[in-house]
Amino acid sequence: MIASTNPATGKIEKSFTPHTDAEVDLAIAKSAAAFAQLKETTITQRAAWMHKAADLLEEDAAHFGGLMTMEMGKPLDQAVGEAKKCALACRYYADNAADIMADEPVKTERTKSFRRVLPLGPVLAVMPWNYPFWQVVRFAAPALMAGNTGLLKHASNVPQCALALEALFTRAGFPADCFQTLLIGGSKVERILRDPRIVAATLTGSEPAGASVASICGQEIKPTLLELGGSDAFIIMPSADLDAAINVAVDSRTKNNGQSCIAAKRFIIHADIYDDVRDRLVAAFEALTVGDPMKEGTDIGPLVNDDAVKDLTSQVETAITQGARRVVGGKAIDKDGSWFQPGIIENVTSEMDVYSQEMFGPVVMLFKVDSLNDAIVLANDSTFGLGSSIFTQDDAEMEQAFTEIEAGSTFVNAMTASDPRLPFGGIKRSGYGRELAREGLLTFCNVKTCVVA
Ligand code: NAP
Repeated sequence: MIASTNPATGKIEKSFTPHTDAEVDLAIAKSAAAFAQLKETTITQRAAWMHKAADLLEEDAAHFGGLMTMEMGKPLDQAVGEAKKCALACRYYADNAADIMADEPVKTERTKSFRRVLPLGPVLAVMPWNYPFWQVVRFAAPALMAGNTGLLKHASNVPQCALALEALFTRAGFPADCFQTLLIGGSKVERILRDPRIVAATLTGSEPAGASVASICGQEIKPTLLELGGSDAFIIMPSADLDAAINVAVDSRTKNNGQSCIAAKRFIIHADIYDDVRDRLVAAFEALTVGDPMKEGTDIGPLVNDDAVKDLTSQVETAITQGARRVVGGKAIDKDGSWFQPGIIENVTSEMDVYSQEMFGPVVMLFKVDSLNDAIVLANDSTFGLGSSIFTQDDAEMEQAFTEIEAGSTFVNAMTASDPRLPFGGIKRSGYGRELAREGLLTFCNVKTCVVA
């Protein structure tokens, strides 16, 4: 079903008729035609359109934010902030694409050797609901600036965000069909990936979805980028500024109603400060306001749907049955909509199911360690490798964390966050490839070797 269901109330606000195969085929044909047109435009022209998209994102941030909150439940101020962050990414690529794509001479014994960056063609983007604007724009901004066209298959529960994004780029001035939304379910993706006019795919979402898209693209010899799940470590050492560490830790675990791939999910705390940190975390969790995401002052809205509440509840209860201890919360809230009380559990061991799972909601796992070496061993004992954070004042510890934590990023004394100027992505089962920054634009380009004898 493709529909907006408000998770705060459980009410279906609007349903959509999915696109038929014939409509999808037409959209692919239009995307291919739009590519032929877009690649002939200048970067300066595309930059003007992209700046206009940024202006629109800022002007309409309140409207876009309202759509996101209604469809997936994040607090409105965070949703408005998301629209504004999208504007930053658009401006970053509008201002930097020319440099990133400039011919780069290379000294060889030939008369002339250089790299030239060229677009590839229509790219399929399969996207999740949790950051319904940001995930899409961080693909779309570099892709369109490079001269590629995009087809968006957004999550089935955020169709109004998906349609607003299609309209955004058209309103900004990009030629018709450069960026189109397909209202289809996941089962329709394979047909699109097998179409020879689609040249590449990007997917942000779960491991099964990523594995499916990547294996089909493997058979079709098409490049993919995968941004998948994470279970990020958040290490706190004795030298840390504990007030800052607690604030950031709670923010990181509860932002976006706890449904963020790069949320801190495993808090790994040095034994000397463990009890103090746990007590402070409990106080912070008890002070969180869970409620109407449209209301100012709400820290945490509902989870995305009832299944999310069921899954998270089952993960916590299984962990408790297997010997973990509930420190606070971690239970479903019984009222209309999809509500969950943020929680903390401890005494989690490697034998428990939850040890190796991603918890996609506001539940913290606490671990006690005796040294940074032990903290890093534990941090790396995961199939995931997305982000990581460490709080410490010790330069040697910072250096060790940068080198030894197996993750796509390490943030010291800060939460893991994406920034258009810095590459973003994971290793291990968190996926491969990099979005944002220079890397994000080059991902779906032909970096062509050009040589004159
Ligand atoms: P999901 O079920 O994988 O959905 C993501 C997208 O994939 C949706 O558009 C979905 O469509 C589609 N999809 C699902 N199964 C598919 C299949 N077999 N073939 C093709 N498309 C398919 O993920 P989710 O549960 O909504 O999102 C949460 C996950 O995303 C978490 O694991 C989270 O950590 C991860 N995530 C990662 C990042 C990152 O940057 N690394 C960012 C955000 C989220 P339908 O909605 O129609 O099913």
